[in-house]
Amino acid sequence: MKSALEWKKYYLTPEFREKYFYNGDDLGVSCTDSGTSFKLWSPSADSVTLNLYQDGSEGEAFRRIMMSPAGSGVWSWGTEECLHGVYYDYTLMIDGEVTESADPYAKACGINGRRSMAVNLRKTDPEGWQQDQAPRKGPEQIIYELHVKEFSWDASGGFPEEYRGKYKAFTCENTTLYNDGIHPTGLKYLQDLGVNYIQIMPAYDYGSVDEAGRDTEFNWGYDPVNYNVPEGSYSTDPARGEVRIREMKEMIQSIHKQGFRVIMDVVYNHTYSLDSWFQRTAPWYFYRVFDDGRISNGSACGNDVASEREMCAKYILESVLYWTEEYHIDGFRFDLMGLLDVGLMNRIRRELDERYGKGEKLVFGEPWAAAETAMEGDAVPALKKNIALLDENIGMFCDDTRDAVKGSALRIRRPGFINGAEGKEDDIIRSVTAWCGPAEKNASRQVSYGVKAPSQVITYVSAHDNQTLWDKLAETLPKAGEQERMRLNRMAAALYMTCQGTLFLLSGEEFGRTKDGMEDSFNAPIALNRLDWKKAWDNRALVEYYQGLIALRSHLPGLCDKSADAAERIHDISKSDGTVSFMLDNRTEDRAQEESPWMKLKIIYNSSRMEKDVSVDDGDWVVLCDGEDSRLWQTPHRIRNHTRVCPQSVLVLGKLSDRKAV
Ligand code: CA
Repeated sequence: MKSALEWKKYYLTPEFREKYFYNGDDLGVSCTDSGTSFKLWSPSADSVTLNLYQDGSEGEAFRRIMMSPAGSGVWSWGTEECLHGVYYDYTLMIDGEVTESADPYAKACGINGRRSMAVNLRKTDPEGWQQDQAPRKGPEQIIYELHVKEFSWDASGGFPEEYRGKYKAFTCENTTLYNDGIHPTGLKYLQDLGVNYIQIMPAYDYGSVDEAGRDTEFNWGYDPVNYNVPEGSYSTDPARGEVRIREMKEMIQSIHKQGFRVIMDVVYNHTYSLDSWFQRTAPWYFYRVFDDGRISNGSACGNDVASEREMCAKYILESVLYWTEEYHIDGFRFDLMGLLDVGLMNRIRRELDERYGKGEKLVFGEPWAAAETAMEGDAVPALKKNIALLDENIGMFCDDTRDAVKGSALRIRRPGFINGAEGKEDDIIRSVTAWCGPAEKNASRQVSYGVKAPSQVITYVSAHDNQTLWDKLAETLPKAGEQERMRLNRMAAALYMTCQGTLFLLSGEEFGRTKDGMEDSFNAPIALNRLDWKKAWDNRALVEYYQGLIALRSHLPGLCDKSADAAERIHDISKSDGTVSFMLDNRTEDRAQEESPWMKLKIIYNSSRMEKDVSVDDGDWVVLCDGEDSRLWQTPHRIRNHTRVCPQSVLVLGKLSDRKAV
């Protein structure tokens, strides 16, 4: 067998690239009532045999068929029979060696994804699927990140026993705390919270959980096996290939119906192992290798997918389009986007815009990588430093805002602006305008990267990675009591929710979720990772504070503005030790949009332990939100010329529009 480097050299030759680029969009299996066709791209195979099975994991093949070469590296076979429900894999002869492989282009599979399945997708649609539609986009996108199993595992959620940890749990409406009939949990609770996007952590088929194993097995799932198939352990029957497909569609249909859009977390940057279907069907084509022969490992997961290679880019693009078309997905969060190339990301954006309208599907990702990667040719990685090269509607998780507010996610004892760090005022001001503006470097570091508009920034302080916000506050303020931590949690929330950019939070941030300080709980027991719905009711005051902030946000067009000149709305910025304040032009530019009652805002962040004076100009000013109550805007009381901001709190003041004042 050739070495990785020899393969690489071969794939880079113009002859290979010309001869083996396949332009069709029919790789994998197409299966309808009128027939079934199998197509596999395997440019180096000398022969390919298709094996058909009755079962997804057991027994011998009942039929073996020699595939025919169809040009451009494609192997093909077709029949007029509908083979829906038949399992299959391939036997390939490559470079003198025989390998077996499932289909990298599979749309269905058996238990643990070891065999693929031919599926007539129309047979997997739940009732009413053709009418399924995402709710309309609101003035702001507020993304709530959750994991299928964490969501409904705990008995406190009140989900039916057989649906706990499954896609099916999302089809339950009106669940309540231990089924008490009083305190909403699940999607009803999220409606009351006000978030409008649900981001599902990996739900494509991944490898780290045994689908035939015990129900308590847990993993986040950042280890893809079959990119275009739903994960089986979340279905009620992983052994029957069509069940997981139908149940995932039912989940999405129900989430839509209950008022949310759905974002899928996609991990195209690496696969579960190097011994993947990619590798077995096209050795080293889909992976990066350094020129000295080292295997690229920028993902720290053992391999990097070569997104810049033509057939690999095509694979990723078509996979994204497949999830939007077949599963009605509304947005994508790209894991380690910094390992994918700018060209591909922009192409994905463009194709989605053409099909669904500009910016309609959300696209964002992590603009970093764990280590250096062996990206080839002129390709440029979609890293933070290259944000200016990305489309204005491709967003990045903004670690700068995250760390400015509550301290470094990686250096766990290091505080941020709210919990005692000094000299963070400038970073907080940049957080407010989502770090927009030209790239800028100060004496010690790069402070901005040329963000084009707030649409490029995900503003957040917690995600599944790193400590929860609550644990981070405990880590940085070990002596603080419960009351102070609550106060600081409210401050963190009010601060980032009054910054521009798209808002994002880890499920449970709003109720003080804890993982006992653990930074990386990807394979920790479900008992630690599960959402504790009792806590959501025990810490009700905090949840209500978030509710008020989220509801207020939709009345603040000045903060929801995602345009390139949104930063110009911020003026009269002032800072002193531990305090930042600014004015915000809150008028709407878009006449179709409802005018806010407040033409101007004054926002003050006071992280000091002292009360501070706040003065405003003449006019009708009201308090919209303070450190205790985020619903004051619903029963506004007026202030004259000056007021005070409490220690460790955020104060939001609104100036009534002239016409409202008369
Ligand atoms: Ca799996």
